[in-house]
Amino acid sequence: MENTDHKAGFVNIIGKPNVGKSTLMNALVGEKLSIITSKAQTTRHRIQGIVNGEDFQIVYSDTPGILLPGYKLQENMLKASRSALSDADILLYVTEADDEPSEEYPFLEKIKNSKIPVLLVINKIDLSNQEKLEELSGKWEEILPEARIIPVSALEKFNMDVLFKFILEFLPKGEAFYPKDELSDKSERFFAGEIIREKILLNYQQEIPYSVEVEIQEFLEEKKLIRIEAVIYVERDSQKGILIGKSGSALKSTGTEARKELEIFFDMKVFLSLFVKVKKDWRNNDRQLKAFGYR
Ligand code: GDP
Ligand code: MG
Repeated sequence: MENTDHKAGFVNIIGKPNVGKSTLMNALVGEKLSIITSKAQTTRHRIQGIVNGEDFQIVYSDTPGILLPGYKLQENMLKASRSALSDADILLYVTEADDEPSEEYPFLEKIKNSKIPVLLVINKIDLSNQEKLEELSGKWEEILPEARIIPVSALEKFNMDVLFKFILEFLPKGEAFYPKDELSDKSERFFAGEIIREKILLNYQQEIPYSVEVEIQEFLEEKKLIRIEAVIYVERDSQKGILIGKSGSALKSTGTEARKELEIFFDMKVFLSLFVKVKKDWRNNDRQLKAFGYR
């Protein structure tokens, strides 16, 4: 079933405040591009949208990405920390038509030094005209010669198809990072698991991060709070001990951090219960991997 032509990657949307990043993301995620699997409402959420097609998966994000890879077992994803500029496969650098191009723009130096393909989006061209636009493009070309320049109007959904084509063109080959089917109805559970996993990665060292799998066993949205029960699977008893810590202290602080972040993410009070279980050598166990959603 392996599809060698499949493409998948992270597309980070950066730029000054108010240039239209969120509007652009909505236009990209909302338009025709097949199944929308997840779309959060505000920019403080990390993943705003995942767009799946038969042959591709695009993970959009417009905040400094601290999202850690969901499917760590894939070699190419074993990177401990990702920042908005280094974790992306493609950068959408959003500017607006009535803003003068300049070297002073944020992140420019970093962008120039990185090898990530940059699509320089000139947004809000509905407020501009051809002449001005050509002048703008010329200036941007000088500042960022490697970037593709794409004028759009996110608000009026103008040139979204062109932008999308470029994104697809630059998207690297690879398997989907997130299950395509499951996300649509399980995205909340999925993101809950990701947040918990991230806290584990941040709080423990050495082999622990690579030995855990988080399974959300219960996700109950009640009137005033969300009740989440998660099991953290490890491979060995010794790891269980480390994870829990002295009289539970390590697990407790991980749980607190995860809960706080979950509350921000879901914009609701969260009651989180974490359990640690040993599943011997789950990483080498095919059936177990399937159960966790690995292919
Ligand atoms: P962000 O801060 O970069 O995420 O920007 P937003 O997406 O929140 O947009 C900021 C403002 O610009 C909002 O009022 C949008 O409606 C407006 N805006 C976004 N895209 C366009 C566009 O293509 N044309 C015009 N005229 N306004 C836009
Ligand atoms: Mg925004």
